[in-house]
Amino acid sequence: MAKSIVYFASARAKYFDYDYGFLGKFEEILNLINLNNFVAKGDYIPIKMHLGSQGAYRVVRPAFIRKLVDSLKNVGGEPFVTDTVRIPGLEYLRVASANGINELSTGVPVIMADGVFGRDSVMRPCGPILGEIGIASAIHDAPAMIVLSHCKGHIASGYGGAVKNLGMGGIAFKDRNGIHQRGRMHFLQNAELSWTAEKCSHCLQCVGACPHESITFDQNEWLVIDQQKCARCGRCARVCTEGALVLPQNAELFQKVLAEAAAAVLDTFPKGKVLYINFVTEVQPECDCMPMADAPLIPDIGVLVSDDIVAIEKATLDLIGQAQIIRDSKAGDKGLTSAENIFRKIHGKDPYLQVRAIAEFGLGSEDYEIVEVLCKPKPDGSIEPRNPFGH
Ligand code: SF4
Ligand code: SF4
Repeated sequence: MAKSIVYFASARAKYFDYDYGFLGKFEEILNLINLNNFVAKGDYIPIKMHLGSQGAYRVVRPAFIRKLVDSLKNVGGEPFVTDTVRIPGLEYLRVASANGINELSTGVPVIMADGVFGRDSVMRPCGPILGEIGIASAIHDAPAMIVLSHCKGHIASGYGGAVKNLGMGGIAFKDRNGIHQRGRMHFLQNAELSWTAEKCSHCLQCVGACPHESITFDQNEWLVIDQQKCARCGRCARVCTEGALVLPQNAELFQKVLAEAAAAVLDTFPKGKVLYINFVTEVQPECDCMPMADAPLIPDIGVLVSDDIVAIEKATLDLIGQAQIIRDSKAGDKGLTSAENIFRKIHGKDPYLQVRAIAEFGLGSEDYEIVEVLCKPKPDGSIEPRNPFGH
């Protein structure tokens, strides 16, 4: 069986020349992959992203989004940038804009795929753990999609890339009956957060981390969660270093749930109508949904593009594992000297599990071939740089 092709452009620029720079090389990959295969004239195309958080600003840079948008428009597509409600919808759009992602910078609308209230969803059959899941309607109804992911670590799944972007981010906040859909994935089914008063230092980190202002302490210094407001996102438990607030989740199961949900989202698209773009830049240890961004663990690697979600995720993790670590980062704090299995060493979770889990749905191959793009050729086809370094 032929290997899956993964296009790659390094973030390095070896010449003072746009065509040899990261953006120029990304543009060339978009030229090479023939977007006509993914987009028919007039198609509305979601560009599924994570738009960051207040404090988590290491998102895919708008210059690259704009380049993608222009390429999609050139083949007749009608793209829009989108994610689902994690924090209240209008607030999320303001955060996205503050992180540089808005209509002015990208050239297209930035919208919530599940509506500003996060309830626009379509229930679809899912794998054996979830049974069924509510998919954001603007993704469910689209004829094709670009999954544009910023690759980084993740406290609950070890790594967040395309599987996470789709499996969590393609799912609506709630369904029309008000039942949590994303939230069902963070928690073991039907379980609740637990709090142990004796362990609580009242540091209030959980209060500050909660995006829905669901946590208060009563006059007896007892933690109270407003279940009406709580989105079951698990952020509060993740920042509790005392082990007082505990999220009922199993790390292995969580990765399987992500793969299940991602497969359910992909099942709404005809085969071959989803393109994956993984930016391996500013690879920080934590998800872009946290209330801060830490320093990157490794130097910027570049961008990968493929129509195979298994291949691109495996290639991304393999490349990260071969990088040098940045000592002044969480990797250095942990005493790591190499990036091999870096996310497992930092978060205690093996991220290859989610790759194997999505592969089990028959959605791609772990056998890949990297095709590196070194430059964007000149109009006459030449690839000679105009201003090589050192001249
Ligand atoms: S983060 Fe943990 S220790 Fe701090 S206030 Fe919340 S429950 Fe208590
Ligand atoms: S799970 Fe925790 S952080 Fe998330 S909304 Fe509920 S109380 Fe807030």
